[in-house]
Amino acid sequence: MTSRSETWVLPGGGPRPEPTGLDAPFWAALGEHRLVVQRCSACQAWRFGPEHLCPDCRSFDYSWEEVPPVGVVYSWERVWHPAQPALSTAVPYVVLLVEIPAAGGVRMLGNLVGDPLADVVIGQPVTGVFEDHDSYTLLQWERA
Ligand SMILES: [Zn+2]
Repeated sequence: MTSRSETWVLPGGGPRPEPTGLDAPFWAALGEHRLVVQRCSACQAWRFGPEHLCPDCRSFDYSWEEVPPVGVVYSWERVWHPAQPALSTAVPYVVLLVEIPAAGGVRMLGNLVGDPLADVVIGQPVTGVFEDHDSYTLLQWERA
């Protein structure tokens, strides 16, 4: 696992996370270069994104558990057209849907760092990269 401090995107501000009370622990942990995932205290089911109620057993009790930022590519897409003006200099880039085996196979989105034109393979192992910005940290991914 590595960390990056350079910004690959976000000219003019760009999109940024806005943690609510529910997902604040996730963002706080990323700021410490740790990945935490919500887990039901009653049935032990993992879930992401964060929810107040367990979709499996309807318990409101949960914890945040640290897991290694290691996953596999479940799906991906290469973005050629910026979704908003702030991303106009960021394209092309690769968005991954990464499955986290250590967290029950929950899936989360992130960008693939490195060559945006390189081949991406479903099932490819990836490792988390903590990308620090001025007031938040993003979890991106690199080939393992
Ligand atoms: Zn549950």
